[in-house]
Amino acid sequence: MPDNCLFCKIIRGEIPASKLYEDDDILAFRDIAPQAPVHILVIPKKHLRGPEAVTEEDERVMGKLMRVGNEIALKESIPSYRLVCNNGVQAGQTVFHLHMHILGGRHMAWPPG
Ligand code: 5GP
Ligand code: ZN
Repeated sequence: MPDNCLFCKIIRGEIPASKLYEDDDILAFRDIAPQAPVHILVIPKKHLRGPEAVTEEDERVMGKLMRVGNEIALKESIPSYRLVCNNGVQAGQTVFHLHMHILGGRHMAWPPG
């Protein structure tokens, strides 16, 4: 796990986070700057710089992100939600450790800005 990666530091407990779920593969925690009433990040514990770094060996964990993400959304009372994974600077990625945003609790416009 890269020493200087913010989300790896959260996984290691070196930076505090409001954690909602954790197992051997993934971690979910609240976004520090929520863009909706509920804004959660779900990340693999394996450091991947983004969706572009996913390989066949990560497919099980990527599916788990979505399955557990849905369970968390239901627990948070947002059965209607949006999932976002930004890949690259132009798409808005600022933290280069793959993460799935779960956003809900308000109307979501389409297309995204
Ligand atoms: P990105 O823009 O890369 O798709 O999303 C990165 C997300 O990480 C942003 O929504 C940002 O608010 C969140 N974030 C950045 N630093 C921290 C932090 O230290 N703790 C938490 N919980 N979220 C963070
Ligand atoms: Zn990392």
